[in-house]
Amino acid sequence: MANETWTVRRLLEWTEDFLRKRQVESPRLEAQILLAHALGCKKIDLYVRHEEEPPEVKRAAFREMIKKRAEGMPVAYLVGYRDFYSLDFLVTPAVLIPRPETETLVMEALRVVKAIDAPRVLDVGTGSGCIAVTIARQHKTARVTATDLSADALAVAGTNAQRHGVTDRVTFVQGDLFAPVSQGAFDLVVSNPPYIARAEFAALDAGVRDFEPRSALDGGIDGLDYYRRIANEVPRALRPGGTVLVEIGLTQEPAVRDLFAAQLEPGPTFKDRAGRPRVVSARLPR
Ligand code: GLN
Repeated sequence: MANETWTVRRLLEWTEDFLRKRQVESPRLEAQILLAHALGCKKIDLYVRHEEEPPEVKRAAFREMIKKRAEGMPVAYLVGYRDFYSLDFLVTPAVLIPRPETETLVMEALRVVKAIDAPRVLDVGTGSGCIAVTIARQHKTARVTATDLSADALAVAGTNAQRHGVTDRVTFVQGDLFAPVSQGAFDLVVSNPPYIARAEFAALDAGVRDFEPRSALDGGIDGLDYYRRIANEVPRALRPGGTVLVEIGLTQEPAVRDLFAAQLEPGPTFKDRAGRPRVVSARLPR
C-alpha cells in the first residue's frame, strides 16, 4: 500500500470497510463523521473534497480516532458531539450519548406543553441536557428546571444550554432526582432515567457498557429502581392536571405503567420510530 494515494475518497472507503469488519452498525456514516472531524470540516463538505489528499498530520489524527473506535470507544465521545432533534450536543464520557429513541420523549413533551403559555417543565436526571435544552429551544416561553446528581454532567448540560441560547430559560441544579427542587407546580415532568437491569449488562453493546457512565444506565436489579422513586415523588412536583413522561426500556411498559397508575391517572404509552413502546405517561388528577 506504500504507493497508494490516500485521497478523501480512498480514506472513506478503507475506513468503512475496516469498521464494517468490526461489526460497527453504521460504518459509512461513522467513517464520514470521523474524517470530517479530523479534517475540521462538515460531513457534507467531504463530497466536494473526494479527490483531495489530506496532509499526514491530519491522517495521523484520523488513524488515532479509528484505532480508538476499533477498541470500542463510541464515535460521539471521539468527536465530542452528537446530533439530537436537529441540534448538536456536546458530549463527554460523563454523560450518556443522546439516543434517537429519546426524541420520542421530547416530541411528546412538546405536544403536552404546546398550548400552555410559559409552561414550567422539570427534567429529572438531565445528563447532557439534550431533553431540557431541546424543549426550551422548541417552546419559546417554556421555563425548564433540570437536575442531575453529577456535577460533571451538569457542566456539559450548561455548555449545551449556552450553545443553543437558552440559558435564560433553563436552570440546572445539582442533586438526586427531585431533591434539589424546592417547590412543585410543574406542568410537565420528564425523565430518561437509568433503566438497564443488572442481568442485561452483560448483553449490552460493548460501546455502551464499557464507555458510557454506569450511573446513567444502571436501574438496579430489575431496572425499575428509578421508576419506583419517580412514581412516588412526582405527585408533589406536579400541579393538578400536570403530566409526567418517562422513557422506558423494551420490556418495561407493563411494570412502569403499574407503578405510575398506583399514584396517578394513567395516560397513553407512546411508541418510538421503530414501533416499540418507549414513553409512558401519567397525569395528576385536577
Ligand atoms: N437506551 C439506553 C441503551 O440501552 C439506556 C438508557 C437508559 O438507561 N436511560 O443504550
